[in-house]
Amino acid sequence: MKEKIYTIPINEALEARSFCPFCYMRRMLEEDAIRYTVGPAMMESDFRIITNEKGFCQKHMRELSAMSKALPLSLVLQSHLNSVLGLLDTDVPTSSKSIFKKSASPKAAFASSLEKLAASCAVCERIEHTFSRYISSFIYMLKKEKGFLDKVLAIDGFCMEHFSALASAASKEFSDSEYQKLFVPIIALQKARVSKYHSYITNFANSFDYRNAGKPIEAPKDVIHKSGELLNGEFVPKDKKLDDI
Ligand SMILES: [Zn+2]
Ligand SMILES: [Zn+2]
Repeated sequence: MKEKIYTIPINEALEARSFCPFCYMRRMLEEDAIRYTVGPAMMESDFRIITNEKGFCQKHMRELSAMSKALPLSLVLQSHLNSVLGLLDTDVPTSSKSIFKKSASPKAAFASSLEKLAASCAVCERIEHTFSRYISSFIYMLKKEKGFLDKVLAIDGFCMEHFSALASAASKEFSDSEYQKLFVPIIALQKARVSKYHSYITNFANSFDYRNAGKPIEAPKDVIHKSGELLNGEFVPKDKKLDDI
């Protein structure tokens, strides 16, 4: 089957002028998946089977709880807790005289089924596949779409997490000459962004020196938040704790 090329969401994300276009695309996918989970998915047995088994990560549980969809969410949680009960309902022998290696002992198998449960999230899984296709579509568009590289070079760059995902896809998909032509300019773009924030944060830190009192600070007001987004991806800042100011 021919893989779909996601031209529209990628172009939309570039035009949205978000801090990182891939953070923007991920946010759109997440919002869709959350709405779907407590909406149309209630009627879709395939996805219900997945939510029953996997449940959600803490981040997505927080998003789901904020949806004012108490009835559908409680039904989803009821089914999931039922499958958690099933996991706990195994006879776990306290001593194993078996010839199994340690990792295959019933105790280890019990622990590993719980680890798997803790690490799984139906929403994360739903968006992961499409998101990885966004990364490969982006690489494909660099190769095939005239003018696309210029469009990318007109933005300010990416967060480091998504830049790393791009670098990894570029290393696999591009020949040396394609890499030189299509990805080296993107590395320069990212380097300029990191260098800009390095200089902002240096100015900001220096402004605490009494010798610089009263001088204007050459850095955006939210320089710590923005530097955090550059390193870790977009996030909503928490309210400041007053006693820490
Ligand atoms: Zn990002
Ligand atoms: Zn999740």
